Amino acid sequence: MKKVIVSGIQPTGEMHIGNYLGAVKNWVELQADPQFDRYFFIPDWHSMTIDYEPGTKQRIIRNLVRDLLALGIDPKKSTLFIQSHIPEHTELFWTLMTLTPMSELEKMTQFKDKALKNAENINAGLFTYPVLMAADILMYKAHINPVGEDQVQHVELARVLAKKFNNKFGQTFPEPQSMLTNVPRIMSLLESDKKMSKSGGDKSCLYVSDSPTVISEKIRKAVTDEQGVQNLLGLAKLFDPTGLTYKHLNKDFAGGTLKNVELKDTLAELISTYFADFRARKEEIDDKMVDEVIAEGCARAREMAQRTMEDVRSKTGIR
Ligand code: AMP
Repeated sequence: MKKVIVSGIQPTGEMHIGNYLGAVKNWVELQADPQFDRYFFIPDWHSMTIDYEPGTKQRIIRNLVRDLLALGIDPKKSTLFIQSHIPEHTELFWTLMTLTPMSELEKMTQFKDKALKNAENINAGLFTYPVLMAADILMYKAHINPVGEDQVQHVELARVLAKKFNNKFGQTFPEPQSMLTNVPRIMSLLESDKKMSKSGGDKSCLYVSDSPTVISEKIRKAVTDEQGVQNLLGLAKLFDPTGLTYKHLNKDFAGGTLKNVELKDTLAELISTYFADFRARKEEIDDKMVDEVIAEGCARAREMAQRTMEDVRSKTGIR
């Protein structure tokens, strides 16, 4: 039997290189492995837990679909869908909520972090976010969740809830496991000890769709304290397909002759080249194609979700 992979990326803005290196690149690579069935999705309901401008949401979602396609997510190999188009997710969410101890949610570090950053909007959705994520994962009977470190605790909750459901209502869900990429956290360009994050502002992130000019401008303004230089060197390693340019930079760095401006300009060149094909492919993806991919992926996901929920309703005695 094939193993099922489920993972998502929130439509909260442009995709940055942390999202790409920490998640999406791995998704694309996993498509080559025939032992997996893959579900990749855009958790738009999750993204409502943070303040946003309603008028921009559809543009962000559709832009994200174009990014995913242009980066190599192949709708023939992976089911690509949008969470809110599958209403069964909220139904399973509610079922799982009734199994979730409050204490499990109270210990979530991401909730604590997000509550600090959004002190004026600490909503219940932010608190129960991991239960909706467990519903996303269990709906497709996932075995594996390729996620960043920040999500490991949430996958652990999905495992706890799978076990609880199975014990109470009969064997239904496999217990999912996190799969971490070997890419470390990608750090902000402006604060070398902070994770690159959309909430840090446009200048702190490099977006996969940034033009070569913008890439160069942003990197020119990156901090170059000790950690900052290390971060930039680390990026050079990750974006150098042959490793030769990185080797040269690293040798000069070790010898104390590497100028910051040389490091920055070389890195900007490496990143611009790395995403050149992506930028060209993205130009070719029109609205019609995006509509078709969304409709097809959501229909496929919904079929599975309906099957899971029929089973869940029957086992829980609700129908
Ligand atoms: P999100 O936009 O929060 O849905 O994140 C999508 C994926 O990108 C998750 O698997 C995160 O763990 C990963 N991710 C987000 N920011 C970073 C970062 N700065 N470095 C590495 N991975 C990241």
